[in-house]
Amino acid sequence: DFQLEKSLIGINPPVVMKARLGANENPWGPSAKTKEALIEAVGASNRYGMQSRSALIKLIAEKEGVPETHILLGAGSSELLTASMVAYGLKGKIICGDPCYISGNEEKIPMEKVPLTKDFQYDLDAIAGRLNGSQSLVYITNPNNPTGAILPADQLTAFINKVSDKTPVLVDEAYIDYAKNPKTDAMVASINVGKNVLILRTMSKLYAFAGLRVGYAIAKPEILKTIAPYCSGGFDISVPSFAAAIAALKDTDFQQLTLTNTAESKKYLYDFLTKAGYSYVPSSANFVLFPIKMKGQDLMSKLMTEGVMVRRWEFDRQHWCRVSIGTMDEMKAFTEAFSKITS
Ligand code: PLP
Repeated sequence: DFQLEKSLIGINPPVVMKARLGANENPWGPSAKTKEALIEAVGASNRYGMQSRSALIKLIAEKEGVPETHILLGAGSSELLTASMVAYGLKGKIICGDPCYISGNEEKIPMEKVPLTKDFQYDLDAIAGRLNGSQSLVYITNPNNPTGAILPADQLTAFINKVSDKTPVLVDEAYIDYAKNPKTDAMVASINVGKNVLILRTMSKLYAFAGLRVGYAIAKPEILKTIAPYCSGGFDISVPSFAAAIAALKDTDFQQLTLTNTAESKKYLYDFLTKAGYSYVPSSANFVLFPIKMKGQDLMSKLMTEGVMVRRWEFDRQHWCRVSIGTMDEMKAFTEAFSKITS
C-alpha cells in the first residue's frame, strides 16, 4: 500500500508524516508521462524485458555519448555499487572519503578512509599519496553525500589521469544532475579517452525513480565485465520500470521543473539557516548538510515526533543534520519544527 510510505515507522503514538527529508528523494514525481508509461506497460508484465532493456541502453548511450557496450543497467545504482564493492573488495581495499556514501560500511567492505578537506571535499592529493598497490579501487561520490560538495572537473580529471592506470576510479554521480554544469562536471569524457573509470548513475533523484529502481554504469567493457558477474544477469529491472525510464529520460520539462523547484526550496532553507545563526555546506545536490548544536540522534527523534524525517551524521567531533530538499510545504514543516525544538 503506497500510503504506508506516507507514515513514519516506529513512532508511538503514530505521527502523520509532514516532511520526508531523510533519503534525498524527489517529491515532485514521478512525472505524469512516467506514470502514463508505467500504466501502459503493466499489461506486458508477464514478459521478461529483453527488448525494453536494449531500447533503454540505446537511449542512455545516445544521451551520454558513449557506445552501447559501455552501459550496464541495474536496479537502481545500488545493484551496481554493491557489485563493484564485491568485485573490487575481493582484490584489495576500497579507498574513499570520510565521510562519503559508503564510509559507514567498513565492517562489510575492506576500506581505507581519507578525511575530507576543510571545504568538505575529497582530498585528492592525500588519496593519491596513499595509493601503494594495496587498494583495488578509489571510490569518489561527486557531488559527495552527505556534504553536497562537488569537485572541480579539472581537479578530478587530473586526479584520474594521474592514478587510474594503476588504480581504477569509481565516480558515483548519483547527484550530478543537480550540479551547475552537469555535462562538464561529469567524468564521462575520461571514459571516452579510455581511462579506467567506472561511473555510476541513478534515476532515483532527478527522475524521481527511487521506488522504480533504475540505474546504470558507464565504463569500457573490460571494467563492466569485472562487476557484471555480481549483478543479476539482466533480470533486475521490471518491464514497467523500463517503459517508465524511457519516458522519463525524454521528459525534459519534468527534469527542468525539478531543478527549478529544488533551487527555490534550497534557497528558502539557506535563508532560514542563515537567519537562525547556522552555517551550512553549499550544496550541489538535492540536500543540505549543516552543523547542529545538539546530538544528532536527539534532533532526529524530536523532529520525528513533529512528523519530519531527516538524517544525522557525526564527524570532525561535530554533530550534523542532513536535510533533503523537499516541496516548499515540506521545507516549511521542517523550519517550523526545527525552530520549535531549538528555541
Ligand atoms: N549513491 C549515492 C551517493 C546515493 O546517495 C544513493 C542513494 O541515496 C545511491 C548511490 C543509491 O541510489 P539508488 O540505488 O536508488 O540508485
